[in-house]
Amino acid sequence: AAAPPVAAAPPVAAAPPVPDRGRLTELPEVRATTARLTDAAAGGGLPYYLPHDGRISATTSVGGRELVSFSSYNYLGLTGHPRVVAAAQEAVERYGTSVSAARILSGHRPLHDDLEHAIAGLLGTQDAVVLVGGHATNAGVVPHLYGPDDLVVHDALVHDSVQQGIAASGATRHAVPHGRADLVEEALRARRHRFRRVLVVTEGVFSMDGDLPDLPALVASARRHGAHLMVDEAHSVGVLGAHGGGVCEELGVDPADVDLLMGTLSKSLSSCGGYLAGHRDLVQHLRYTLSALVFSAGLTPANTAASLAAIQVMRDEPERLARLRANAQHFLAGARARGLDVGPAVGVPVVPVVVGDSAAAVEVARRLAEEGVSANPIVFPAVPDAQARLRFFLTSEHTVEHLDHALDATARSLAAAGVRTSERVPA
Ligand code: PMP
Repeated sequence: AAAPPVAAAPPVAAAPPVPDRGRLTELPEVRATTARLTDAAAGGGLPYYLPHDGRISATTSVGGRELVSFSSYNYLGLTGHPRVVAAAQEAVERYGTSVSAARILSGHRPLHDDLEHAIAGLLGTQDAVVLVGGHATNAGVVPHLYGPDDLVVHDALVHDSVQQGIAASGATRHAVPHGRADLVEEALRARRHRFRRVLVVTEGVFSMDGDLPDLPALVASARRHGAHLMVDEAHSVGVLGAHGGGVCEELGVDPADVDLLMGTLSKSLSSCGGYLAGHRDLVQHLRYTLSALVFSAGLTPANTAASLAAIQVMRDEPERLARLRANAQHFLAGARARGLDVGPAVGVPVVPVVVGDSAAAVEVARRLAEEGVSANPIVFPAVPDAQARLRFFLTSEHTVEHLDHALDATARSLAAAGVRTSERVPA
């Protein structure tokens, strides 16, 4: 029988007037946000929380306009892939929309085991465990394993979720300037002996600068000083390595030399959630004790099945990884040829274009949108104000025409906004 027509959603009833009485609105930070957004609204609003109307990949649709998109993490273009969509639909048919409990109780499904095996297989670790959010994974695991007697040495650019986890742990924090593995070694040599446990944290691909860590050096330092090493692979799994296995595969590092590999399901793996992978005893310990897992409802059937299918499609369609890599390199070379400041980017699918101050970055993003290109401005406090930038996320689905159009439009928008570009020519 034909499926019944989908009824239009009833109009949302106008909310009844609510008295304006919340005392939390008196907090200085709430007042500051209110003032900032009121000012921005007067200037035409900020380019945030824009509703995108469909699947976001190489292109997207905002307010009925088609834009070339550089603002999604859909690196391999799998969020709308027929096999991924079908797997999510079948999982909903079979298991419903929620697992309705923490996995340790009655929220565990065979799909969770299948996905965890697939992730461990992809990374080359003994085991892996999945959680409902990438942010929650980092924010939960660091304070679970480290506390006030411990030291965390981290690259200054590690993601907010790791920084929140460190703050919650009460551990002493030692931030090392970005990319300086030599200063990690120095910090460990000087400070290791004064702490119970020491953790070194880095990322597989840095999401602000689009570069890689010197992982072999970090592995050697951690080993030399009896420290643990954690790598956040949010932007490197399904991106780096001949099979998408991440930064270890890319750099020829044995994954067993990294104590904790963390990643998200929300980027190449086209779903939503996080994972932790490593030695089987560690993963088992986390399965039975990590609050963010044990006291949280399990990953939904659709999310679980989507990531599992994404891993299978990535294996069956290796040309996606090759296209992603080629696009990243084409974009980087084109940016340099046009004199754009790409900072330390190395040709992975995150490429920053540094603009200068935050207001200029927002203005350039607005001009780019007028030219049909969506790229997010990253402004203070996410980066230092003089380092505000546009961040371009490449996908395997972009065509060379998409890339060249975006590069030309960026050069034009920078010029129109009065931002100087260098006269650099390609090497
Ligand atoms: N780590 C890094 C490096 C990230 O960029 C992000 C999010 N963009 C996260 C963790 C959090 O992951 P999620 O968005 O899946 O919660």
